[in-house]
Amino acid sequence: MLKQAVGSSSGLTSHKLIEIELNNSVIATRKQRDKYVVTYQDGREEDADFIVASVGVKPCTEFLDGTGAEIKWTIKVNERQETTVPDIYAAGDVCVSPHIMSKEWIYNAIWPVAASSGQSSCL
Ligand SMILES: Cc1cc2nc3c(=O)[nH]c(=O)nc-3n(C[C@H](O)[C@H](O)[C@H](O)COP(=O)(O)OP(=O)(O)OC[C@H]3O[C@@H](n4cnc5c(N)ncnc54)[C@H](O)[C@@H]3O)c2cc1C
Repeated sequence: MLKQAVGSSSGLTSHKLIEIELNNSVIATRKQRDKYVVTYQDGREEDADFIVASVGVKPCTEFLDGTGAEIKWTIKVNERQETTVPDIYAAGDVCVSPHIMSKEWIYNAIWPVAASSGQSSCL
């Protein structure tokens, strides 16, 4: 998991029930009797009761090439969802947004954030 996903200043790197692995990847999984065994990129192995597989997303911003909108993987916006080009707004998964706890601007591609930023861009 990338540090940006949890917010570098959120302190959200461990919890009583979960450990968040930063800058590591799962490279293999196998079933062993009634457990799963997960192998990490750094060679460590860990038992798991179940596995949830997921993949990342990539913002589609190519259509803004040449418009002057500032894009650093995501489209740069301010609190009102304005891009760096007057009268062009962006919202949702193509933007970063303030982290709910740390307020740091991070990439948080989930539906409630997309809906809320869409509403902000309409005001
Ligand atoms: C597999 C999966 C599971 C998810 N599960 C959850 C979940 O459980 N809970 C949760 O909160 N969030 C979940 N999400 C995230 C959530 O779906 C997104 O955060 C949300 O849909 C983002 O809304 P959006 O309008 O920004 O983008 P999107 O919903 O991706 O809409 C963008 C639209 O723009 C269109 N488009 C792209 N480029 C162009 C172009 N050049 N011209 C015209 N149209 C274009 C696309 O076809 C698409 O229809 C999930 C996402 C995925 C992929």
